[in-house]
Amino acid sequence: MAATSALSAKPELVAELEAIVGEAGVLWNDYDLALYEYDGSIDKSRPLAVVFPTSTQQVSALVRLANRWNVPYTARGAGTGLSGGAIPRDGGLLISFARMNRILKIDVDNLRATVEPGVVNLRLSQAAAPYGLQYVPDPSSQKACTVGGNVGENSGGPHTLRYGVTTNHTIGLEIVLPDGEVITTGGKALDEPGYDLTGLFVGSEGTLGLVTQIISRLVPVAEAVKTLLAIFPTVRDASAAVAAIIGARIVPAALEMMDNLTIRAIELSKPAGYPIDAEAVLLVELEGLRDELDELADRIATLCQEHRALSVRVAQSDKERAALWAGRKGAFGAIGRITPDYYTVDGVVPRSRLPDVLDQIQQYSREFGLRIANVFHAGDGNLHPLVLFDADDPEQTKTTLEVGAKIMQTCAEVGGSLSGEHGIGMEKNDLMPLIFTEADLEVMRRVKRALDPEERCNPGKVFPTPGRCLEMLPRRGAAVGW
Ligand SMILES: Cc1cc2nc3c(=O)[nH]c(=O)nc-3n(C[C@H](O)[C@H](O)[C@H](O)COP(=O)(O)OP(=O)(O)OC[C@H]3O[C@@H](n4cnc5c(N)ncnc54)[C@H](O)[C@@H]3O)c2cc1C
Repeated sequence: MAATSALSAKPELVAELEAIVGEAGVLWNDYDLALYEYDGSIDKSRPLAVVFPTSTQQVSALVRLANRWNVPYTARGAGTGLSGGAIPRDGGLLISFARMNRILKIDVDNLRATVEPGVVNLRLSQAAAPYGLQYVPDPSSQKACTVGGNVGENSGGPHTLRYGVTTNHTIGLEIVLPDGEVITTGGKALDEPGYDLTGLFVGSEGTLGLVTQIISRLVPVAEAVKTLLAIFPTVRDASAAVAAIIGARIVPAALEMMDNLTIRAIELSKPAGYPIDAEAVLLVELEGLRDELDELADRIATLCQEHRALSVRVAQSDKERAALWAGRKGAFGAIGRITPDYYTVDGVVPRSRLPDVLDQIQQYSREFGLRIANVFHAGDGNLHPLVLFDADDPEQTKTTLEVGAKIMQTCAEVGGSLSGEHGIGMEKNDLMPLIFTEADLEVMRRVKRALDPEERCNPGKVFPTPGRCLEMLPRRGAAVGW
């Protein structure tokens, strides 16, 4: 069946889909599909149908069906991605993992969990907590995003500074390949011979196959935790303090920065106790043995004071600590309340370049007349400038995307990267030549072609669009084909 005839033959296609996942497992009318044409990014494209498999066998049957019908397909977790990874750019099937959401095993003796991809991130840590264990990658979206989506994007979070990102916590996968074959990679053992296929699939943004089971590491919850809030008169001072803390070979569990616009938005939305006149705050979390934390906290306070901190406060209770974190984790939502739309940029720079890059971002804000809030995993040098704009204003949307591209260019120029954790998707694919040579990209293309020669598995992601490299054009509402 040719791709172009799939739309006209939609009722037959839907009937075949229903034969695999049941009537309640398919959405195909326009009203329902409208809810699935976007994720947390700026682009949109409507699928032909959304399907909700409940088993690996069903996922494999869906992939084989897509091949028979010559339609593309895209995996979706919770759709909180910020680079358009789960948007079905070329239409086709959107395969939602929302109903493959079982925690299959918490293996306490081996510090492992086996889960289906639709498990919500926070649920895994909650399930591990009674055993004194946690699942470390903790994106700020962890109440909603799924472990499968985390694997797709190689997600990070505040606590990945000390413990590493999703790839460091994923040791085995079950995958449905683009020909429908089911394979497993890795396992519960520490190392497997042969190529590191698990590493290849983590962060591949659903472009090489569909993950149907994940074996994750679990990490013991630390004996003690201490959370500090340091208040600074300028963003430059706060970022210099970040470099000083890491330079002193102290690696906190988390080291987060928020600027004044973010602080004010949080205090307006759900007060966390941040001072609204501070130009920047650092939220520092230490984990370890009770005895060592007091000394570490003192050293951090001293380093902050040496970089002009106005005050350093240590949370005195679990309640106070939870409030400080609720502010940080709710920061994006709080910004959403002070602007019609915001565009989240995600880049990484060497920590020592943070002060200069943040100055440059403020310069772009003035130059382009757009407010930019900064809230980010400073310890990793992972920036998240949020550009505030109105998506109903096409000119402003265009300028916003230009600012995003400029920020990416700045990150690349100082030796940084295009994504710390949100992936490339269909947002930054045309910027890939900023950090990769043609030869680098060709090797990646060869891997893609080897596994997905027909390019039906999440097409239009990661790789630059021919003829459009380094152009960032406004692309809202552009559903391509059917
Ligand atoms: C408010 C907010 C805060 C955020 N904070 C952070 C943060 O701190 N750190 C961070 O890293 N990210 C953050 N994000 C981004 C986002 O939450 C993460 O990228 C998350 O991992 C996406 O998970 P998801 O389940 O929503 O996946 P989706 O957005 O649905 O999908 C993400 C990608 O994974 C692929 N995928 C999903 N499931 C599968 C599967 N089973 N098999 C193969 N591929 C699959 C999709 O095709 C897509 O390419 C934030 C987002 C928001 C809205």
